[in-house]
Amino acid sequence: MPSYKLMQKIHAVQRRLKIQGGEMTNADRVLWGELALSSFASESGQTDDLTADPETVLGDLLADLMHFCDSRGTDFDSALERGRNHHAEEIEEAADAARPTCNKTYFVAGGRVERTCGEPADPESTCAECGKARCQEHASEEGFDDSTGRVLCEDCQPPTQPTQPA
Ligand SMILES: [Zn+2]
Ligand SMILES: [Zn+2]
Repeated sequence: MPSYKLMQKIHAVQRRLKIQGGEMTNADRVLWGELALSSFASESGQTDDLTADPETVLGDLLADLMHFCDSRGTDFDSALERGRNHHAEEIEEAADAARPTCNKTYFVAGGRVERTCGEPADPESTCAECGKARCQEHASEEGFDDSTGRVLCEDCQPPTQPTQPA
């Protein structure tokens, strides 16, 4: 049996996906992988090995999956290729989601509805202090400046020293 703690985490993910309509994250996918591997380790008497040497247990599971594919006439290598593609896409999606997007807001419908731009933000137009981020189209309005070593919007720049009267 997979551990109680793991099943609790998986049930929490299922609740989040079903009830709250959330998106599956790569952290959730780690749990599915752990479920498969720990179920296999538990039933094949390798639970202790799973902590000490997970690669050995994974190798055994993969070999068994290859035998399973042989018996069913399923192409293991083709499935592995699919898995690699999913994995790469999911990593890329997570990286995209972590990139800041333009948070310029504007009003539509005669001022009744507020919208956020949401286009990818320009790194040179993303304030390190307040998180204000602008796409190329909206960048020019905010006076971003990197002369302090960090990109800062006009509001977050240190006040310029008034010139002392001579
Ligand atoms: Zn700022
Ligand atoms: Zn924008």
